Amino acid sequence: MAEKLFLEVVTPQKAVVSEEVEIVVAPGSEGEFGALKGHTTFLTSLKMGTLRYKDVNGKERLLFINGGFAEVLPDKVTILAESAERRKDIDVTRAREAKERAEKRLADKAADLDFIRAEAALRRAIDRIKIAGTK
Ligand code: ATP
Repeated sequence: MAEKLFLEVVTPQKAVVSEEVEIVVAPGSEGEFGALKGHTTFLTSLKMGTLRYKDVNGKERLLFINGGFAEVLPDKVTILAESAERRKDIDVTRAREAKERAEKRLADKAADLDFIRAEAALRRAIDRIKIAGTK
């Protein structure tokens, strides 16, 4: 069995994950990276996307994370994210509504449209729907 490392995922609101895991794969801003026990220490910012890890039973778990930072130590990975939701906690109806709102804003092209903001909201919603639907 693989050696374990400790994973903590924290948002400004709460601790989302705090458990031993076998491997963590995270969306670093310089590209996706994986961390196993004994990994070299490093610090990186994160993109919005999917954080994956294998729990102690070898089961793959998925989380949506909305950017942040990761600190990787040989025996611990700490993720500080703007927001993070476990797959089972994603409210798909809410994400679909957010997607529709963002799509409408982008299609309407109002004079005061904040394109970057609407596009980011759309990408968050699409990612949440995708993660929630992953088996
Ligand atoms: P919305 O427009 O529905 O608020 P958003 O993408 O603007 O979506 P965020 O700013 O990313 O929302 O998140 C605000 C808070 O709401 C965070 O705590 C986040 O975890 C939670 N959240 C947002 N969307 C969902 C969802 N679909 N399911 C569960 N939690 C969500």
